[in-house]
Amino acid sequence: MAATPTQLAELREQLKGFMAREIYPNERRFYLEGERLGPWAAIPVIEELKAKAKAEGLWNLFLPDDERGAGLSNLQYAGLCEIMGRSLMAPEVFNCAAPDTGNMEVLVRYGTPEHQRRWLEPLLAGEIRSSFAMTEPDVASSDATNIGCEMRRDGDDYVINGRKWYTTGATDPRCKILIVMGRSNFEDGTSPYRQQSMILVPKDTPGVKVIRPLPVFGFYGVPDRASEVWLDNVRVPAANMLLGEGRGFEIAQGRLGPGRIHHCMRLIGMAERVLERMCRRADARVAFGKPVSEQTVTLERIADARIMIEQCRLLTLNAARMMDEVGNKEAKQEIAMIKVAAPIMACQVVDWAIQMFGGGGTNNDHFLSSAYAMARALRLADGPDEVHRNQIGRLELKRHRNIDPATTGGYANGLTREEAELVGREGLWPKPAGWVA
Ligand SMILES: Cc1cc2nc3c(=O)[nH]c(=O)nc-3n(C[C@H](O)[C@H](O)[C@H](O)COP(=O)(O)OP(=O)(O)OC[C@H]3O[C@@H](n4cnc5c(N)ncnc54)[C@H](O)[C@@H]3O)c2cc1C
Repeated sequence: MAATPTQLAELREQLKGFMAREIYPNERRFYLEGERLGPWAAIPVIEELKAKAKAEGLWNLFLPDDERGAGLSNLQYAGLCEIMGRSLMAPEVFNCAAPDTGNMEVLVRYGTPEHQRRWLEPLLAGEIRSSFAMTEPDVASSDATNIGCEMRRDGDDYVINGRKWYTTGATDPRCKILIVMGRSNFEDGTSPYRQQSMILVPKDTPGVKVIRPLPVFGFYGVPDRASEVWLDNVRVPAANMLLGEGRGFEIAQGRLGPGRIHHCMRLIGMAERVLERMCRRADARVAFGKPVSEQTVTLERIADARIMIEQCRLLTLNAARMMDEVGNKEAKQEIAMIKVAAPIMACQVVDWAIQMFGGGGTNNDHFLSSAYAMARALRLADGPDEVHRNQIGRLELKRHRNIDPATTGGYANGLTREEAELVGREGLWPKPAGWVA
């Protein structure tokens, strides 16, 4: 059951209150603990605040499922997710952080009751975390048909061998389960889209080796606990296969829609906060005899930032509405559009803010450098811009191929001889009288 407008408004106020009381005052501590403890440790302030958020019912708001989550529609969640996105530490506090949200959705949709008991329940309770291991250093992983990690059936087990990287969260000691994508079908002639599978791999299985944390623009942990993971003869029961052999692409489609839109919702919140800081700074900083806010270049940047944020918000809300009304598959062009637009918008807004803050914009006192790292990484994570643009372009072409241009005035063919002659006779430069040609 979706929330009523009153319930949603109350939830929104409650969330804003929690952000003001618990999140913003603790951010400095979060960054310090992250730096001091490093990527192999859990961050204590997150665990403390998780308990408070859970006690207040600000928990699993992302999950549309009534029983397990808050039962909100994508459109209803959008405004809440945007508020969480104002802080890079907040989504995890509310158990609404990637990649767990996507992984939980996979387990809700495709997990067996046993998978759900073992992995979904503790994830929903915030007791463990999870990773999604698809990308590989040795192949262009934006094209998932290239994924080479092998899953070979051996009796009642699968034996898995492969090398993964950018596996978000694997260095986290609370990460207990990986969803691994790999190749399981090797017969000639199998469609490349039926060769990949997804399987559940408990992180403590012998042969799962988390080799190293990877920095993202020099940051470890924030905005992302990227990691490199090797799977050396990892043996898991065949029952750990999700949905069935060769059905990895189907799962990927189901997983990525909500995951992508949540990133965009959060980026809008992040950009809003950055713009707020930018305005305050511009008013307070005096250079060459007047506040920086009185320079027309500043006004233009502030205005453009507002326009771009608003455009992205409307695009995102439209995609959320489409997902609710016609489903993730039908909304794929809208999802791809925001996946391109929101990170580019956020990169631009943060870049202007960095410029506005001068040298201080390059350290993390105002969280601008970690915000930039987050926005920039999201032009790659969950598929690079180019791949989404290709999809948008192809869908756009297809749309027009299926429409009769007589109904839309969308003809693109050249003029007929009669039309050309008419233009020659009556157009802007009619033929001079007596002209022979
Ligand atoms: C911070 C961060 C977190 C991530 N988290 C995860 C995670 O948890 N799990 C996971 O599995 N992966 C994760 N990734 C990996 C991410 O999904 C991949 O980096 C992305 O899909 C691209 O794959 P690739 O790196 O192999 O680039 P490649 O496939 O090698 O592509 C490189 C570049 O080629 C260009 N290109 C590719 N295809 C086309 C095309 N069709 N047209 C034009 N140009 C093209 C693009 O510019 C692209 O960026 C994460 C990445 C980052 C940065």
